[in-house]
Amino acid sequence: MRCNEVKRLLSAYFDKELPADQSIAVREHLKICRSCMEELEDIERLHKLMGAFPVLEVGPYFETQIIERIEEETRKKRFSFGLKLAIGFVLGGLMLFFITFKNLPREEVAVQTSPVLSTYLQEYYNAHIIKNNPGLVVSVSSFGEGSK
Ligand SMILES: [Zn+2]
Repeated sequence: MRCNEVKRLLSAYFDKELPADQSIAVREHLKICRSCMEELEDIERLHKLMGAFPVLEVGPYFETQIIERIEEETRKKRFSFGLKLAIGFVLGGLMLFFITFKNLPREEVAVQTSPVLSTYLQEYYNAHIIKNNPGLVVSVSSFGEGSK
């Protein structure tokens, strides 16, 4: 028996669900194959780990609870993505703020950011900074592109 085949059958072997001849073939292979043996040991570890958790009672509201849990997780993920985006924008704004004050009045400043942020920074720069600091030159470029 080949490793691929043995590994495919290991879970069933562990659960003693294999027909006798296959079970014997797997056992014989495990005696001579370290790699497959290790995989079986992983299954054993996983099984023990799962046994350590209490068994879930499947009640009438089980499905509803699962769906609610999933929706809750999705909301959290969306929220945290929005939060990251907001933090990114704030950091970008702060970065430009400091650059503006550090480098007054006329120095060339290159800012490396991700593409999305660089567009935002460029717009922010055009809208706010160039008005107040006509001497400052800021070039914003994306990672990998280099300064323009
Ligand atoms: Zn093997």
